[in-house]
Amino acid sequence: MNKNTIVLGRIFGIPLNVDSSWFLIFALLSWMLAINYYPGEFQDWPQWQYWLMGMVTSFFLFVSVILHELGHSLVARRFRLPVRRITLFVFGGIAQIAGEPPSARAEFWIALAGPIVSFFLAAAFYFVTPLAEGMEALFAFFKYLAFINLVLAGFNLIPGFPLDGGRIFRSLLWGITGDLRKATIVAANVGRFFAFAFIFLGALQIIAGRIMDGLWTIFIGLFLESAASSQIHQQEVRTLLIRHKVQEAMNPNFAIVPADSSLQEIVDRHVLGMGRRAVIVVDDGDIAGMLTLHHLKSVSPEKWPIVQVAQVMLPFSRMRWVTPDTDMWSTLQAMDKDGVNQLPVLHEGKLVGIITRGDLISFLNYLHSLST
Ligand SMILES: [Zn+2]
Repeated sequence: MNKNTIVLGRIFGIPLNVDSSWFLIFALLSWMLAINYYPGEFQDWPQWQYWLMGMVTSFFLFVSVILHELGHSLVARRFRLPVRRITLFVFGGIAQIAGEPPSARAEFWIALAGPIVSFFLAAAFYFVTPLAEGMEALFAFFKYLAFINLVLAGFNLIPGFPLDGGRIFRSLLWGITGDLRKATIVAANVGRFFAFAFIFLGALQIIAGRIMDGLWTIFIGLFLESAASSQIHQQEVRTLLIRHKVQEAMNPNFAIVPADSSLQEIVDRHVLGMGRRAVIVVDDGDIAGMLTLHHLKSVSPEKWPIVQVAQVMLPFSRMRWVTPDTDMWSTLQAMDKDGVNQLPVLHEGKLVGIITRGDLISFLNYLHSLST
């Protein structure tokens, strides 16, 4: 994970993070509200009140974005897709949902949930606005939040992948054609079309003298372009990996350690000695689990000599594994779902190898070098 990320806490058990780029937007938005929006609505406030309202309003925009992402996340969970985290960054928020949606229907509802939340918030703020008649700060605050949530819903419904609207569009294409790959390529290309439209519009704004607005629009366009292109790239990777099986890239040389070894022994013999990132743990000849660097790091080094492998390993019952016949794309998806970098390979209940993310990436590079 990015080290510019600050962990705020958890909401419904989902980690909530803020990327440092978000603070720039918080400051910029507070500033625009304080010098532009609020003074335009009310001329006779003291200076501090403009700034206070600017910051309070920005904060509630931040809450609105979290609720939008939470909409996606909770629906994703209903479809049994794990949600890694919600991250707020310069363009709003992103709910990192692990794995691909299982069906077109799932993708449709997951994508629609965010804009529905934003529409609902816009309506709620719109209908409470008249209640604040006479309390001008509150009145202007409700009015702005109604507006900005409507903008959030509207912007996200642009039908270019990977925006929400593009995901909805993709799910419809996917549902109709049954071809996820084609649906993704078409929806991502529509995304690129909108990206270029934004860049063009930004250029027009700059020509018209609205330089800040223009730069911002171009910035959004560039961001959309790179997001859409990376989705196209990911589809290409999928096409390559789905044709190949684990047995072509797995490593048949894996380390087996007894369950009662100490962590120190593993570090000395396998991590430092052999550069291994994972070992398979056996107990009485059966696989008991897997120990990775991640598990080692969860224990402080001075305890390594006294902690046994079995106490911190991932037990077999919770371990995901693949077979030599599993395709490489599903393998990568399985790693993403669990947030792990390696999976054991089992054939008829017997351990035959281990496959790592690194193995898959090297294999992909090898395929690339063959095709160019
Ligand atoms: Zn969304």
